[in-house]
Amino acid sequence: MNTTDFDRFFLNDSEAGIQSFQHIIVETKQLLSKFYKGNSDAFNGVLPAEIEKEINELTLTSSDGEKPVTVLNDVLEKIVRNSIHVSHPTSMGHLHCPPLIPAIAAEMIIGTLNQSMDSWDQSSTATYLEERLIKWVSNKLALPSSADGTFTSGGTQSNYMGLLLARDFFCNKRWGWNVKAQGLPPESHKLRILCSEDAHFTVKKSAFQLGLGEQAVVTIETDECKKLNTAKLMEEIERLKSGGLIPMCVVATAGTTDFGSIDPIQEVAAIAQNHGLWLHVDAAYGGALLLSKKHFHKLAGIEQADSITIDFHKQFYQPISCGAFFVKDRANFKYIAHHADYLNPENDEEDGLVHLVSKSVQTTRRFDALKLFMSLRIVGEKNFANMIDYTLHLAKQAAGVMDQHPQIEVCNIKPEINAIVFRFNDAASDSLNELNTYIYKKILYTGTALVAKTKVKDEVFLKFTLLNPRTTIVDIEDILHSISQFAAEYENRGITQ
Ligand SMILES: *Cc1c(COP(=O)(O)O)cnc(C)c1O
Repeated sequence: MNTTDFDRFFLNDSEAGIQSFQHIIVETKQLLSKFYKGNSDAFNGVLPAEIEKEINELTLTSSDGEKPVTVLNDVLEKIVRNSIHVSHPTSMGHLHCPPLIPAIAAEMIIGTLNQSMDSWDQSSTATYLEERLIKWVSNKLALPSSADGTFTSGGTQSNYMGLLLARDFFCNKRWGWNVKAQGLPPESHKLRILCSEDAHFTVKKSAFQLGLGEQAVVTIETDECKKLNTAKLMEEIERLKSGGLIPMCVVATAGTTDFGSIDPIQEVAAIAQNHGLWLHVDAAYGGALLLSKKHFHKLAGIEQADSITIDFHKQFYQPISCGAFFVKDRANFKYIAHHADYLNPENDEEDGLVHLVSKSVQTTRRFDALKLFMSLRIVGEKNFANMIDYTLHLAKQAAGVMDQHPQIEVCNIKPEINAIVFRFNDAASDSLNELNTYIYKKILYTGTALVAKTKVKDEVFLKFTLLNPRTTIVDIEDILHSISQFAAEYENRGITQ
């Protein structure tokens, strides 16, 4: 055995390294191109048990290594073919976007460089590029110059960070209590976080992870447009206070996961300010409107938030994972900072070295900023804006078409972003829940499209999330046609069985 035997396993200056790198990249490129050329569906409809069987039958490891083509062939046949194809125009289930081509290429560079964002000596240039993109988004959102932020793994982590800073800031302000050093204060069971009933479940999940319990989250009714009702918010704050409880934070959602509705951020900000509450804006979905001149106004008030969540792996078309968290006052990052001698000693920061671990709840962290950077440069801001504007226009048009359909009941006839919640409502059917569940499964397992299933007031509804700018109104009409057929099939099932 000789160390040069390992040259071919890594990208390095040896001929063997370069050759094996180029070989596998060319093969991978061919595999994906071949697949996409022949692929006509968002999903092949293979049943879960069959997919599980195929995966269980895969050879998992090898002793001496196999040829890339052998393994890639298994990847194509067992994995790629049975995958959900998010770039297909009829893939409109979840907030799950088609990834941009420059970002796919960036993923290869991210993996190759394998920078880690925690300390400057593991991420030299990457540190500054991430900082510039954070600044770019902050400027777009018109945040004050005291603002700062960090890339995150997504909305879950960003919401968690928002509530963590809210808790620690509040305990410090109210009781001079240092949660980082002392743990939770004696009154912590009285702390309350307010959000709408349509806010993301990670608000509750963060609350229990932060030791406040789910009881800390008080949900406020939404109006008929699924937006937080601010009159009810004020009532609730007063009711909590008079009951001896302690409201500390309000979460406004800019783009709820199901309906895409945007809470009245400006009004919520004023209420939060009056009552000395931290304002977190969860713009995981709606944050992308900052790319659109036409729709940016819908985010008005976001610049007043104490903290903000934005996901780039939703409507910024980035491959998973890619998100960010922002704070209005960078001083508040002190609540999560910790100095480790081996990573980010305090005197380094005095010397001007930037260690981003001080602003993150992660340690080793991906250089995801590169893919957003390459996308913004190669695609261009105007094209981003056109894509966002188109999908919002499509959603409006689609909701109009659906509203005309005698048996389609649309919940949000005027979609605020690009999600439409609806169900097949045929008065003849005594169980609409069963009927719509049947339709959902038929759509999925016939490979017609990918739509999502959700509940509105305990009733089953379906959802289109129209992120893909290549989806057309004809795609929607075709799906509606299939839905009518599946519904007829359901009504007739007694006869045909
Ligand atoms: C998607 C989403 C989240 C969770 O984000 P992840 O990136 O999936 O962790 C949080 N809030 C809202 C409103 C979302 O749409």
